[in-house]
Amino acid sequence: MAQYNKVTAEVVEKLKAIAPNRVFAGEEINEDYIHDEMPIYGKFAPEAVVEAASTEEISEIMKVCNENCIPVIPRGAGTGLAGGAVAIEGGVVLCTTRMNKILEYDMENLSVRVQPGVLLQNLADDAATRGLLYPPDPGEKFATLGGNVSTNAGGMRAVKYGTTRDYVRAMTVVLPTGEIVKFGSNVKKTSTGYSLLNLMIGSEGTLGIITEITLKLVPAPKEIISLIVPFEDLNACIGAVPKVLLSGLNPQALEFMEKDIVRMSEKYLEKQVFPQVIDGVEAGAYLLISFDGDSMEELEQISEQASEILFEEGAIDILVADTPELKKNAWAARGSFLEAIQADTDELDECDVVVPISKIAEYLEYVNSLEEKHGLRIRSFGHAGDGNLHIYACRDGKPEAEWKEKCEAVMDDMYARANEIGGLVSGEHGIGHAKQEYLERCVGPVEMGIMQNIKKVFDPNLILNPGKVCYKL
Ligand SMILES: Cc1cc2nc3c(=O)[nH]c(=O)nc-3n(C[C@H](O)[C@H](O)[C@H](O)COP(=O)(O)OP(=O)(O)OC[C@H]3O[C@@H](n4cnc5c(N)ncnc54)[C@H](O)[C@@H]3O)c2cc1C
Repeated sequence: MAQYNKVTAEVVEKLKAIAPNRVFAGEEINEDYIHDEMPIYGKFAPEAVVEAASTEEISEIMKVCNENCIPVIPRGAGTGLAGGAVAIEGGVVLCTTRMNKILEYDMENLSVRVQPGVLLQNLADDAATRGLLYPPDPGEKFATLGGNVSTNAGGMRAVKYGTTRDYVRAMTVVLPTGEIVKFGSNVKKTSTGYSLLNLMIGSEGTLGIITEITLKLVPAPKEIISLIVPFEDLNACIGAVPKVLLSGLNPQALEFMEKDIVRMSEKYLEKQVFPQVIDGVEAGAYLLISFDGDSMEELEQISEQASEILFEEGAIDILVADTPELKKNAWAARGSFLEAIQADTDELDECDVVVPISKIAEYLEYVNSLEEKHGLRIRSFGHAGDGNLHIYACRDGKPEAEWKEKCEAVMDDMYARANEIGGLVSGEHGIGHAKQEYLERCVGPVEMGIMQNIKKVFDPNLILNPGKVCYKL
């Protein structure tokens, strides 16, 4: 393990000379920098924060930190859910949110060049004014694109359009040693050696700092329609998913949700959208499906064909959300699940596994059985169209020691079963420092060793984001 040095007053002065008025140390550091959006993974105060303004500045900062063996933790908006952007070994948090310019659209190559601190929502809105869509659609719209690329963020539209990885064509990276490199190019395909571009995507700030990104865009579909589909139980609900996927109707989003979490979210938003009892039958679970296309006529046809399939698979009703109001309310309820669960308990831990679509129902049945086995309330929802599940263990006022023990036991069981059925540790939130142990159990020593060797090639002094992903302290 590397031996790190403290950020001395002399080092702070060197950083200030590089980034005047944008270096904060000790008491000046804003509380927000000591955690991400999962407080259960701990609070860690950095010794300094630099709010960087350019690639060249970041390069100079990295040279100082590398020479002095000081940890550097790249950070975007801090909305991560795996403890990736926190300073567990102290050192310098390098924040990119000031680098927030959309630099240039290239309409001929359907792409856009951005700085890493541009917020997802800002690019989505700006692209829309040009009739374009940036398809990745993670739930947190105020995350940065640098953070999205570094975690390979997914989101609701992954079932049709793929994840962030599918939209990154090129990037500028500052290596831990301070060298500036460009990976990829603004081309549609490549067989040009190892893809270091793809290695960077999802590397959670452990290999280099992303300082500029070229992203692919697509023409925006003109119309969207959503279907709210209640089923009597979760098995029927999940059972319908492969049929919809096989139909060739190509849904843009395909989410499942159990009734408890829907009620919780409706209560949180003080708005009821999802039907509860239909002809005397209580809905136990729902699919929320969206289709996009160029005309309402086309979408009406698609939704008719989808309805036929869904009724055959046991849907007890189908509500077509074709007005902006209903669509907004249905997706707002879905988008608020995490906040609703957070508001309903004092602390929670999350599991973000991805499993083969054919195994979702069986896996969730197992997960639900853990409530009784461990005496802990569990809530789940997820992207049925791509097998990525978000499962939450709720503390509900349990004393610290009991909560820790039960939570660990539940997580151990969930990750172990996901592993057995061919699943992986994280579908979109990443490993950070919180899920390292599960990564190791999942991929085994050989793959872990390869990752650690790659880390050393990029970062010989192991200063970049220590204790994250494969590099254990
Ligand atoms: C309510 C809510 C809903 C969410 N929904 C989704 C969802 O649907 N899908 C999804 O995938 N995620 C979701 N997330 C998680 C989170 O928004 C994503 O992980 C996001 O990509 C993090 O971006 P950020 O700018 O906040 O990055 P941060 O949290 O600041 O950092 C995340 C990681 O990226 C690294 N990093 C950040 N910027 C750079 C850079 N420029 N260069 C190198 N490394 C960098 C950090 O070191 C860290 O390891 C959700 C979070 C919340 C709170």
